Amino acid sequence: MNYCNHCGEKVNPGQEFCFNCGSELKKQGEQSQQTGQYYQKPSNSQSQDSGSPGWGILGFCIPLVGLILWIVWKDDRPRDAKSAGVGALISVLVTGLMYIIYFIILAALLSGM
Ligand SMILES: [Zn+2]
Repeated sequence: MNYCNHCGEKVNPGQEFCFNCGSELKKQGEQSQQTGQYYQKPSNSQSQDSGSPGWGILGFCIPLVGLILWIVWKDDRPRDAKSAGVGALISVLVTGLMYIIYFIILAALLSGM
């Protein structure tokens, strides 16, 4: 529960003006946000969720690890999960593309013989 800066009356979170004295409560709302009274998720996990391209490189080098990281992180660390998942996806696509090119060249060589 918050209190009006001006008169000390109880006010609800998110309320913009005091019902008792009519003074603006926006500043107090910002203060209560800092003390965590707005029931927001702790920012600890968010600060770790940097979406670092390093996870993409890891996912690219080891697609299986990228896939596992994506599954494990997709709820808690969506940005890191996306980075690792995209790295793994690109790795799989590039590998698949190389196989396709290889078979096209092989087919061309065989048909030319
Ligand atoms: Zn007031």
